[in-house]
Amino acid sequence: MISVSTLTGYLYCARKVYMNNVLRIYGQKRKEAVSGTIMHAVIEHVNNNEKEIVEAIESPVLEDIEIHYRANYNKALSAILDKSNIELERLKHKKENAMAEVWPVLLEEAKLRARNVHEFMQKHNVIGKELWERLAPKYVSEVSVASFALGLRGRIDRVEKHSEDCLIPLEMKTGKAPKEGLWDNHRIQLAAYILLLKEKYPNVNEGYVEYLDIGERRQVVLNPFIENEVRELVSKVKVLVSSAVPPEKESNKAKCTKCELREQCEALN
Ligand code: SF4
Repeated sequence: MISVSTLTGYLYCARKVYMNNVLRIYGQKRKEAVSGTIMHAVIEHVNNNEKEIVEAIESPVLEDIEIHYRANYNKALSAILDKSNIELERLKHKKENAMAEVWPVLLEEAKLRARNVHEFMQKHNVIGKELWERLAPKYVSEVSVASFALGLRGRIDRVEKHSEDCLIPLEMKTGKAPKEGLWDNHRIQLAAYILLLKEKYPNVNEGYVEYLDIGERRQVVLNPFIENEVRELVSKVKVLVSSAVPPEKESNKAKCTKCELREQCEALN
């Protein structure tokens, strides 16, 4: 089965996909990638503990709920930074710098969660266990999806669950966002997730990319053209990974200057 990240990787550089998936040549993680992993781990940790977090809310005041969420993100971040010590030291990336990189995004996350809960509390006058039981939407993190029919598998950053059959996939992205719309690889990634979710939940038809640095959500709606793009990409990647020779180097040399496989790539024929 092809992973969704391999599909988006193919859009970036087919040769790199070949090196990773056929020749099993991998580069070392860069600082930004490690900070991204830390951020995702914190968000996942908070998501997985959200029941306790929501049930422990004592005040219906928005500022208090925000402080409560912020404290939980902060606690999770400290724990995950401690666990990432070896990786950070290897990259000579100071803990406080990694923290400074991810904290603004986590603050926005805390605000978003707090607003969601606050609005629900205002509307339904509930607190404690009842608040958690009735809260909608709820967020589920790192959702694994796979389809034998599509020959595709993936892991969705977050699924917003509005009801049993109303689900919205979300991907969180750091870094520069396009002026409008989505970067092509993000659009394809979301379309693939919608398709994968749709197999089990036929009502799923849209998803969002959250550009965390600008605090904006951009929508992807599934249509026959995007669906076709995803299916064609899956076929192309299948052909690529069963090929005996690596594809040509990228024509866009800017990609190569920041590629962690540059040296190994040069050494290939
Ligand atoms: S150096 Fe360039 S061509 Fe080679 S794998 Fe990296 S991006 Fe692709």
